[in-house]
Formats: sequence, C-alpha cells, structure tokens
Amino acid sequence: MERVSNACLKFRRLLEDALDGNLSPEEYKSFIKHATLCPTCHRKLRGEIMFRKLLQKALNKKQDNLFQNKAQQLLISIKQIIYHQR
Ligand SMILES: [Zn+2]
Repeated sequence: MERVSNACLKFRRLLEDALDGNLSPEEYKSFIKHATLCPTCHRKLRGEIMFRKLLQKALNKKQDNLFQNKAQQLLISIKQIIYHQR
C-alpha cells in the first residue's frame, strides 16, 4: 500500500485548483515547493497535466492554450527550483 504523508494529501487536494489557476499565491508557493521535494507528487502532477491535455484534445475544448500555458508555467517553476537547489 502507498504511504501518504499529510503534505502529500494537501498537495493532492490543491492539485485540481492549481491546474485551474485557483490557488492563492501562498498556496501556489507551497504547492510548487512540495512538488520539488516529493518525486511521487511531482509525477502525479505531470500525470494529471498529461491526462487533462488528452481530455481537452478529445473534447476539442477552446481554452486549450490557456491551460497549456498554465501547466507549462507550473512545470517550469518546479524545474527552476529543483535546478537551484543543486
Ligand atoms: Zn508528496
């Protein structure tokens, strides 16, 4: 069975809102921070983004670009932080 810490649970609760762009700056910061510290959640985030991209493609949604930009920015922020931690 998968062990999930409180930080991971919080991350998963925020995941939907993060991808919808509904987090406060504070929440966003801690969300990103956890993704840089926790490979499991990082993977989950990437998986969720992939899933949404496929879903939007299937539904031919118009806000495609907006989401792509947001998701891209999220991943770039995470990558930058990981890079600077080295
Ligand atoms: Zn985690």
